[in-house]
Amino acid sequence: MNARPDESVVHGSKASAKDLPSVDRLIRSPASAALLAEHGHTLVAGEARALLDALRAQALAGELPAAAVQPAALDAALRARIETRLAPRMRRVLNLTGTVIHTNLGRALLAEPALQHLLAMMAGPNNLEYDLAGGGRGDRDAIVEELLCTITGAQAATVVNNNAAAVLLTIAALARGKEVIVSRGELVEIGGAFRMPDVMAAAGATLVEVGTTNRTHAHDYERAITERTALLMKVHTSNYAVQGFTSSVDEAEIARIAHAQGLPMATDLGSGALVDLAAYGLPHEPLPQEKLAAGCDVVSFSGDKLLGGPQAGLIVGTKDAVGRIRKFPMKRALRMSKLPLAALEATLRLYLRPERLAQDLPALRLLTRPEPQIRALAQQLAPAVAQALAPRFTVEVAAMQGQIGSGSLPVERLPSAGLAIAPAQKKGAGRALDELAAALRALPLPVIGRIADDRLLLDLRCLEETRDVQPFLAQLTHLEATTP
Ligand SMILES: *Cc1c(COP(=O)(O)O)cnc(C)c1O
Repeated sequence: MNARPDESVVHGSKASAKDLPSVDRLIRSPASAALLAEHGHTLVAGEARALLDALRAQALAGELPAAAVQPAALDAALRARIETRLAPRMRRVLNLTGTVIHTNLGRALLAEPALQHLLAMMAGPNNLEYDLAGGGRGDRDAIVEELLCTITGAQAATVVNNNAAAVLLTIAALARGKEVIVSRGELVEIGGAFRMPDVMAAAGATLVEVGTTNRTHAHDYERAITERTALLMKVHTSNYAVQGFTSSVDEAEIARIAHAQGLPMATDLGSGALVDLAAYGLPHEPLPQEKLAAGCDVVSFSGDKLLGGPQAGLIVGTKDAVGRIRKFPMKRALRMSKLPLAALEATLRLYLRPERLAQDLPALRLLTRPEPQIRALAQQLAPAVAQALAPRFTVEVAAMQGQIGSGSLPVERLPSAGLAIAPAQKKGAGRALDELAAALRALPLPVIGRIADDRLLLDLRCLEETRDVQPFLAQLTHLEATTP
């Protein structure tokens, strides 16, 4: 389509491409001078060019309002473009989904000491791989190995990027070119294309499935062992539960079978809480220390699930098995960076004072937050939210069922409370809810809730009084403007 610039002039309120200044003239206007001084020529000129290109296209289509080419409007548009360009893509949000360790929302929050240590260590040089006592080259594993051994009772420990990497590395180091025996009931998919059979193939090992989906017995493992077998493995079915007529073989039994043939046994624990959650009134999640005591040679687990630290894959076990894993060349490609390593060290140190853990570790603090406290907060916030959303929506305090998240204890629910927001009118209710959810996501500090039973639910378990309540309330006025 050939748009003719002259044509748009016919409509009095439209501007033509000829009304637009050159890039040079735009960035030399008095208002832009401040932008130039602040951001420099490269960014300002680049955004000015992009802005004028966009406006020119609008003008040629006869859709550019005359007001848009006024100097003040052009300056404002340029400033807005620059602000958008400089705004980070990764943003803080309020997780009101009711899922505490939410993979899509960044999993575990770091504890204050971990944040402080991370910042302090990144601001200058550090002894990442330097032995301060001897004055020579050190090993980055040494920063956390002793701590991990103290906490889990392991002989040795090493760390990599995440637990997926830990599993891949364990299999590759112990069983490349050989066979690994796993129960059919444990061939998990974790999400994000992490499927046990594929990981096995990527590690260069051959998967030998034993048993059935619901039942696997000790003799299934025993019969599958051949001279090609290198490893027996158990995978914690962290994101689903097999119920009913089931039978599986525990770690102690598999380890006994493996050791009788001189083979190692590894467990992928997934979440790996380091303290017994039952002591906090939560469901028991298996601990690495229990699995090591049962005879596992290697136990791997995540750093940013129930452990409450940064993304990391922790590998604990015997000196021999962990030594082979550490020396395997792939370890160098999967090694942890200094950033999460600093945060991991500080997080693990919190476990030396278990009595304080429920205060110090955000993951545990949120998981153990008493329901009456959450309900009281909901009652306190309900009137302000109701006022901001009236008359289109009604707001009430409601009981809710949260989740731990990140594939931990998938069938357990956390009794919680929050705000249930319902459209005032039945007609168009679905659309109204979608629009409200979008308006909440568009807030300066985006609020992520969930829609269920024709209501938008804001579970307040993860809305912390000291950090979140004030910003949450302060931005409600934006909602009055954005919801019609
Ligand atoms: C979460 C999980 C993983 C992957 O851990 P990441 O730290 O996310 O890489 C592997 N195995 C199991 C059983 C898990 O639950």
